[in-house]
Amino acid sequence: MKKQRCIICGKPLSSGIMINRKGICSCCEKRIINIKMDTDFYEFYRECIKKNIVPTIIKEEEFRCQSYQF
Ligand SMILES: [Zn+2]
Repeated sequence: MKKQRCIICGKPLSSGIMINRKGICSCCEKRIINIKMDTDFYEFYRECIKKNIVPTIIKEEEFRCQSYQF
């Protein structure tokens, strides 16, 4: 399987949570949990999650195509 990366900070994922097979590292997870709603920060994270989880199916197709090159 491909090495997962945090969808928010982009770091390789060693621990954390998975949402719809997209990873969020434990560091960002904590930040999300402690985040206050109606802040710019909250909006930023929400956008990251939305952008990365919604087009999951399309991205997985791309990954499959790339893997044939190896
Ligand atoms: Zn992260």
